[in-house]
Amino acid sequence: FSQFEPNAIVSDACASYETLDDLNAGLHPYVHAITTQTDFFSYYRLNLYNKKCPFWDDEAGLCGNIACAVNTVENEDDVPLVWRAQELGKLEGPKAHHPGRQEQRDRQAKKPLMGELGADVGESCIVEYDDECDERDYCIPEDERSSSKGDYVSLVDNPERFTGYGGPSAHQVWEAIYRENCFSRPGDELAEAPVSPGVSSPFGLGNVQQKQATHELRNVIKEHGVQQGVQQAMAKGVSQSLDDGLEFEDACVEKRIFYRVISGMHASISSHLCWDYLNQTTGEWGPNVDCYAQRLHYHPERISNLYFNYALLLRAAGKLRAHIQGYTYCSADPQQDLLTKGLVLSLAKAIPTGSEIFDESVMFQGPEAVGLKEDFRNRFRNVSRVMDCVGCDKCRLWGKLQTAGYGTALKILFEFDEKNPDSDPPLRRTELVALINTLDRVSTSLNSIREFRQMLEAREASS
Ligand code: FAD
Repeated sequence: FSQFEPNAIVSDACASYETLDDLNAGLHPYVHAITTQTDFFSYYRLNLYNKKCPFWDDEAGLCGNIACAVNTVENEDDVPLVWRAQELGKLEGPKAHHPGRQEQRDRQAKKPLMGELGADVGESCIVEYDDECDERDYCIPEDERSSSKGDYVSLVDNPERFTGYGGPSAHQVWEAIYRENCFSRPGDELAEAPVSPGVSSPFGLGNVQQKQATHELRNVIKEHGVQQGVQQAMAKGVSQSLDDGLEFEDACVEKRIFYRVISGMHASISSHLCWDYLNQTTGEWGPNVDCYAQRLHYHPERISNLYFNYALLLRAAGKLRAHIQGYTYCSADPQQDLLTKGLVLSLAKAIPTGSEIFDESVMFQGPEAVGLKEDFRNRFRNVSRVMDCVGCDKCRLWGKLQTAGYGTALKILFEFDEKNPDSDPPLRRTELVALINTLDRVSTSLNSIREFRQMLEAREASS
């Protein structure tokens, strides 16, 4: 899978890998600056500690507890304390409590206030005033899950990177995420195959080889069933043509797209932990090419899903153009407000308009549309519930944020009407922060994957 075909179209999206890479080169500086330089977008409110895992007993259950979760090396006792998974997974930096209703009223009457988060952080940039939940949400809003409204956490102080969280607990969570939603489990490579027949993956076979492989696979699936088709394709290393199999099994575009969102999110998390990896022998942080090769390079379908997510998130962010024109970010701090507004508007201007890169209008059509959408929404809400089962604080923070980011994107794609923005459901501050940070995560993943590929090619050339 070493051949890169930049002109190939990312299936289920409307753009090629090259187009999305080019777009990302222009957009990344804005989205990264927004998430790292503005108070509004660098603090996220969530309920990190007060919720029990709703799917299994995380106290006594099968590897749901932290002690079981956090080990990746043979014996963690050999690793200096600061490099141990449990330490790496902890949150850093100051936290602020969400104000109760009375406190909110007092604060609104008295603003501006300087925050508990640090002298230089104006609270008006980060405090979210409570509003009602909406049935059109694709995620469980944090407020609904517990009486506590959660804490504000600095995303800049807690970068998404290697934590050492892994083993049975992490697998159980991933499995639950894929399985709870009735899609194929991880490891079932069929479900990972996103590429439409005749379309090459970025690292895939040429079109002719691909068509032939697809044709053969189609016959195997017809005669012997999907599972055998998968086995044969895997034996031949033809995973990118397996989408054909998926179409036999499950022709529904909505389900396929749901799966791709999850797999793309998983791929993005993998890319960050491989990029910012701790060598637990030397104590040095840096990119780990083997980690990338194992988790992503030899799974082009995962990379395709990542690009797919980028297209989806960009389309959602582009659809917000009307909403952000008059948005006030930091009402009590004009300088911060100006900076934030300027960056967000520059980002919005750089995103293509309309459905050039992603066309959500092909989904939820036909007589089953209403039920299917409800089902889709409920399944996605389940994914957000599973995040409470993640046994590492930092991973849970980013897992929750990204689930909320995709949930927000889906809500914008399927519930917002560009022609009639007045009827759109409300968008909470948390949702906007989650969406833009998730876009930054995927945007950063695309960059690191490109660099990883060059590193791997250089290494292979010199060996
Ligand atoms: P895993 O990544 O655990 O994957 C399990 C199985 O899923 C694989 O064997 C494969 O069959 C399948 N699979 C893998 N990738 C994909 C994909 N993209 N699409 C479809 N199927 C796939 N660790 C950190 O170091 N830092 C973090 O910030 C972090 N955040 C996490 C957030 C969440 C929500 C979860 C559940 C885990 C997180 N982890 C994090 C742990 C990390 O994701 C891995 O689980 C861990 O590194 C062990 O990796 P693994 O190689 O065993 O495979």
